[in-house]
Amino acid sequence: EEQRFRASVAALDESVPVPHRTQNRQAPPVPAPEEFTNTPDTDPALPQNREWGRRILERVPTSKLGVTAVHTHTLSSETEVDAVLAAAAEAGRAWGALSGAERARILDRVGDVLEARRADLLEVMAAEGGKTLDQSDPEVSEAIDFARYYAERARELDTLEARFVPSRLTVVAPPWNFPVAIPAGCTLGALASGSAVVLKPATLTARCGSVLAEALWDAGVPREVLHLVHMGERSLGSRLVADERVDRVVLTGSYETAESFRSLRPGLRLLAETSGKNAIVVTPSADPDLAVRDVVQSAFGHAGQKCSAASLVILVGSVATSRRFRDQLVDAVRSLPVGPAHDPRTRMGPLIEPAKGKLLEALTTLEPGESWLVRPRRLDDEGRLWTPGVRTGVRRGSRTHRIEFFGPVLGVMTARDLDEAIALQNEVEYGLTAGLHSLDPDEIGHWLDRVQAGNLYVNRGITGAIVRRQPFGGWKKSSVGAGFKAGGPNYLFGFGSWEGAALDE
Ligand code: GLU
Repeated sequence: EEQRFRASVAALDESVPVPHRTQNRQAPPVPAPEEFTNTPDTDPALPQNREWGRRILERVPTSKLGVTAVHTHTLSSETEVDAVLAAAAEAGRAWGALSGAERARILDRVGDVLEARRADLLEVMAAEGGKTLDQSDPEVSEAIDFARYYAERARELDTLEARFVPSRLTVVAPPWNFPVAIPAGCTLGALASGSAVVLKPATLTARCGSVLAEALWDAGVPREVLHLVHMGERSLGSRLVADERVDRVVLTGSYETAESFRSLRPGLRLLAETSGKNAIVVTPSADPDLAVRDVVQSAFGHAGQKCSAASLVILVGSVATSRRFRDQLVDAVRSLPVGPAHDPRTRMGPLIEPAKGKLLEALTTLEPGESWLVRPRRLDDEGRLWTPGVRTGVRRGSRTHRIEFFGPVLGVMTARDLDEAIALQNEVEYGLTAGLHSLDPDEIGHWLDRVQAGNLYVNRGITGAIVRRQPFGGWKKSSVGAGFKAGGPNYLFGFGSWEGAALDE
């Protein structure tokens, strides 16, 4: 098998034709050999790109919300799953025996194929995930970045003094909110390290997973090395996570799911990115226009359905009492066009499922002391299309302060000074992203030294981490199982161990 993989790498044809798309006004800079250049998103300022986008959206089948029920994938049967695990574990051995450089050639090609299929990926993300183009286009760029960046890291493995021993079989279980970038990142990281992968896409976005896997196979990832299975979360636990042939599980999901996997198989090597409850602090020295823009983008991009989303804004000192800041925030939120994903005018699309449980509660009821600065309204019968909501008067320790709603609801809190704001940020159990808007270097330094979150952003939105520039991963209950940050220099090391070192630690 190893010889066969090697021969197919050698036979790879270099050119993957990319259909016409104007990326940016300026060509990306030519990188020095050791540098990494991030893939540019499609620039919507150019009319031909808007036309290109419109044509993609025209292909999206329009149900009332522009989201079709395409969950028609077959659930892999028990015998199929068993055969997949056996084949993957076997192939993992040969795949891990290739050099990092050999695997990297395939990964480079994956980047090219994903770029060539950008339009198909955007179409399926709109149809299945309800993603607007401003959200899905950067997701494809991120997936391409993962391919090319992990290819570099794979080459680097060949040069290290200690020998890295990849695990044989990794199960990848991504979420529905980033149905391309997250499965791509976890899968390509594992593949680059030398592990075989069984990918189980989220049930709600199973077709995105299939389109992605097809791209990887077509780019040259052997079918024996990457397997696609479809099943629900319960079967994922009992049939994949519990199976001793599986060395590692990469999960992006809730903290509770991660804990349940750990109790299902104690000793399991789990790399899990879990929940977040993230806040942006705005101090009196901030540029209010930028702050409002970034808060709105971070809170309501993809209708707030991101672990990284801003669900709180903490106004410090005079900002807390500034009428002007609140009016600006309210205007910006009210003017967000809400609609189906296939409508090019939409800035905030639908929820993937009708609002229920804690999210429905957050959209419809207030806690003591709170009032609506902007009251959310339901626009459809089903409960998937909501206008964004902003609740103010949020009290310390309340549910709005502590609980992740995972939807288009932002809470406004106030703090006397920066230290109180930091205390409010740090009091939550999670620590994924955190933001500060301030133009005062002393405040910035003070905040950076104290806030407890994996990804800290100053004068920028808190979603949309960029590969290599902002490796992504959380603290506290935002992460279960030690893992290196995604899109960072050490990510591949999470998928194996070092020769001579005790396995798994
Ligand atoms: N990496 C994404 C971002 O930076 C978030 C991923 C998630 O929500 O799980 O926005």
